[in-house]
Amino acid sequence: MSSKAEKIVRSDAEWRAALSPEQHRVLREKGTERPFTGALTENHETGNYHCAGCGALLFLSGAKFDSGCGWPSFMLPAESEAVEEHEDRSFGMRRIEVTCARCGGHLGHVFPDGPPPTGLRYCINSAALTFTRQKA
Ligand code: FE
Repeated sequence: MSSKAEKIVRSDAEWRAALSPEQHRVLREKGTERPFTGALTENHETGNYHCAGCGALLFLSGAKFDSGCGWPSFMLPAESEAVEEHEDRSFGMRRIEVTCARCGGHLGHVFPDGPPPTGLRYCINSAALTFTRQKA
């Protein structure tokens, strides 16, 4: 898909019109949904997880695992170029923020406590994702 490399830039008014209040709070204001409240945390279906802001493919169900942390957790992104990682020193912590490479939307954080083989846990807000079930 050639549009993968193209950045999507919208005004805040455009984002507010396109997103639900919760999606906007997470994606555009770096909010975090309360643990165990997201619609996709316990989703075990086979399919693809896309950015709720721009539709970019971000994660595959094969990389999802039950971390017990209360948010959808993945061992790796669908493609390394799909997400960007940034140091985040907010709230007195040093964390690595994960954003959508295409639209810049805040997705969550990545932690070094995931299972093999990557050892990573991409801890992602359900509100930042839409799920598309794989067609049989
Ligand atoms: Fe996006």
